[in-house]
Parts: sequence; C-alpha cells; structure tokens
Amino acid sequence: MKIKTRFAPSPTGFLHVGGARTALYAWLYAQNKKGEFVLRIEDTDLERSTQEAIDAIIEGMKWLGLEWNEGPYYQTKRFERYNEVIDQLLEQDKAYKCYAPKLLLDEIREGQMAAGLKPRYEATHPLIIEANTGVALDAPHVIRFRNPKEGTVVFEDDIRGRIEVSNSELDDLIIRRTDGSPTYNFCVVVDDLDMGITQVIRGEDHINNTPRQINIYNALGAKVPQFAHCSMILGDDGTKLSKRHGAVSVMQYRDDGYLPEALLNYLVRLGWSHGDQEIFSKEEMIDHFRLESISKSASAFNTDKLRWLNNHYMKSASPEHVATYLQWHLDQRKIDLSKGPDICAVIQLLAERCNTLCELAEQSRYFYQDFDSFNPEAAKKHLRPVAKEALQLALTKINALENWTTENLHHVIEETCSELNVGMGKVGMPLRVAVTGEGQSPSVDAVMQLLGKARVVKRIEKALAFIADREAQ
Ligand code: GLU
Repeated sequence: MKIKTRFAPSPTGFLHVGGARTALYAWLYAQNKKGEFVLRIEDTDLERSTQEAIDAIIEGMKWLGLEWNEGPYYQTKRFERYNEVIDQLLEQDKAYKCYAPKLLLDEIREGQMAAGLKPRYEATHPLIIEANTGVALDAPHVIRFRNPKEGTVVFEDDIRGRIEVSNSELDDLIIRRTDGSPTYNFCVVVDDLDMGITQVIRGEDHINNTPRQINIYNALGAKVPQFAHCSMILGDDGTKLSKRHGAVSVMQYRDDGYLPEALLNYLVRLGWSHGDQEIFSKEEMIDHFRLESISKSASAFNTDKLRWLNNHYMKSASPEHVATYLQWHLDQRKIDLSKGPDICAVIQLLAERCNTLCELAEQSRYFYQDFDSFNPEAAKKHLRPVAKEALQLALTKINALENWTTENLHHVIEETCSELNVGMGKVGMPLRVAVTGEGQSPSVDAVMQLLGKARVVKRIEKALAFIADREAQ
C-alpha cells in the first residue's frame, strides 16, 4: 500500500514553528516510507482565512524545503463534493436535518447545567423532537451526523498508544451549518478519504476530534487511517509558545538569520530522538525517522540550541550555499559585494565566529564598506601613541610587500614585533583596530589579505592620523 501523509493548515495566520514541526514529521514519514505528501489548505472558516496567510504558509514550506507531491488543495473548492457525501448520508439516514433554533439549544443546555448534567445535544430531548416535527423541509436547519449511541471508539495512536472513548460522550455532530457550509470534522474525513491519506499526523489539539471522525469513516464504510498526535511546543519558560517568546513564525527565523537546515534540524529534535545524535542531514532524518520515537510529552523551545545548530551549519555547509542565504541579509543592509573580496572567502573566515547570518552580514561589513570611525573602546585601548611606531613600521613593510599573501602578511607582523622587541599583541591589536575598526576579528593577517593592499594602507594611514589627533589634544 502506498503511504500518504498530509499537512492541513488552516490559513488563519503565518506558518508557526508548531505547524512547521507537524509538517516536517508528516513529510519525513512519507519520505521514509517512499510515500507521498499532500498539502491541503483548510480554508472553510471564511471569516478567519486570508490569502496572505495562504501565501505565508506556502512561502514557509518552500523555504524549509518541504516539497509536496500533491496540492495545494483548497477545501473551499470542494464544497460540491462535501454536499454529495452529505446527501448520501442523508439518504442512508446516517445524518438528518435539525431545525431546532440556537436559542432553544442554549435553553436546553442551561437546563442541563442547572440540573448538574453535562451540557450536550440530545436528539431525543422532547423540545428538540417538538422543534423537528411538522416543519417545512426547507426551513433553516443544520445537518447533524447520527453518531452511534452504543459502544466505544478505539484507536491505536502511533505516538500515544491505545485511546478509547465511549460513544455516550459524543453527541450528534453538526456537519453542515445553517448557511450551508460544511464543518471541519466532516471535511477532514472526506478529504483524507478522497486523497487516499493512510497516516494522519497532526497536533494533539485534534485528539478529541479523532473518535468523531472515526465514526464518520465507519458510516461511510471506509477504511480508517492510522493516527499520530504530536504534543505541544512550549516556550523556554514552560508556557505555551506564543509571540511573547519572540520569533514564532518560520519566516521570522529567516529574517533573524537562521539557515533552513538549522531550523529543520532543530525542529526534528524537538520531540523526536535517535539515540543521542543531535546533528541530522535531511537524508539522515529521513532514514531514521520513526513515529514511535516521538515523545509523548511537550517540548520546550531552546533558542541557544538553535543558535548552536545554526553556527554548525554555517561553518560546515559550503560557503557557496551559505552565500545564497546570506545575500538577503546583505541586501537588507545595503552591503554591495562588488566593493570587496569574494564573499565565499569572507564566509570561510567569519562563519565559525557567528551564530546567525545577521551577525555574519554585520561582521562582513568592513570588507565592503569603509567606516567613518573606530569602535571607541577598541580605539581607546589600542590606538594610543605607543602604537604609532608599530603601525608606522608595519605600514612601511606592507607598502614594500610584493606578494600579497596571508603568510607574507604574517611575516610582516612577526618582523615588526621582533624589530621593536614587543609582543604580538602590541602590533596585532593596533593593526586589527586600524583595518577593521573593531577590537575583535579573525586572524588579522588573513583579514588584511582579503581586504587588499589599497584598503589596508588607507586604513592604517587613517589610524595614524587618528593617533596624531589624539596626541595633539
Ligand atoms: N486544519 C487543522 C489545523 O490547522 C488541522 C486539521 C488536521 O490536521 O486534521 O489545526
């Protein structure tokens, strides 16, 4: 049997990390079983669904590389089909029209609560029977599914194990509203059935819907799919993940400088494990993915771990790959790469020092743009009159240098130190501040090599002028 999974978001907001993780698990399961993955947009809630949210979901899925084999399907385009199935259920008396107005139902519920009973719809309630007797067939009505009265619904959840619910807990669910629109629990069943979904992987907030949906499958004489309900994601502070915790939208992580593979790796481990392995390539995730290894308990989001993973991918991925994602961040900062060295060489030098692409873009700035002033603290400490001699001597040697290599630049620093009889720091630090404007950078010989002779000379001269100014004050 061909395994088929789906991701079925309601487009009422952006793609958040909880949804993205559910999508990833459904996608991984399909890949692992060499099956197929469907994207379905559940847009029947016309008031809350927006085109903007649909676009954001699709953008997020594409950025993460979770390609779908079928879809996106839209529930709003399938109303005809839902009505066809509703007609079939009506014909078989597995569903019925209910004319009881909302006010009456509210009144019945209040009465039940006052009597200490659980409020529920009861087709056999005298007032409901009365409301449904002798009415014109086309009077306003909803369609309800005739839920079995006896027995229990049992299913084996692939994450949570056996779940059993008594039918006496379930009332006759509305499957079509008065305005003619079909409801979520019904559409999901018809869709999963029509689309041949064999494995439903979704959030635990849907566990209560599953027994109702299973009864509808049974009424349609259809095979019930397997279910797996994933637990929630909590914020670092143990409360439900929300905007308060900073980024929750997948695209916000792009904006904050994360690589999609780092976020994917982070999300896969958020509630799933394979021994104590932390780093997973996409291929490894696919190979090792098993539903039984998903945790039953909620997982807490940990931004430090995501940053650590991002650092790992920035330094281990090819610089060309990192460059494609870095470009967006450079553009945001108006950093023009034509004004400096090959970005891949800069990435190689900087990646291990950065946790995000934002940091990487920021730190690469001095390779492409001249700066107006030196970092005040670094200048105060390292561009002092005592540094003048070291900078001057280094500058002379640099000017005389024929072969512009990191190794030769390293010799320049060494020779300057030994001629002046001072330690590395006394030459390297003023040079670093002079050429980068900052107190911290990768090895200064390598930085100078990438900057090129003209820029290095100009910047050392500027640092010498800065020191002269300082002396004059
Ligand atoms: N549309 C539902 C949601 O976004 C998911 C339905 C399902 O996966 O069965 O919560």
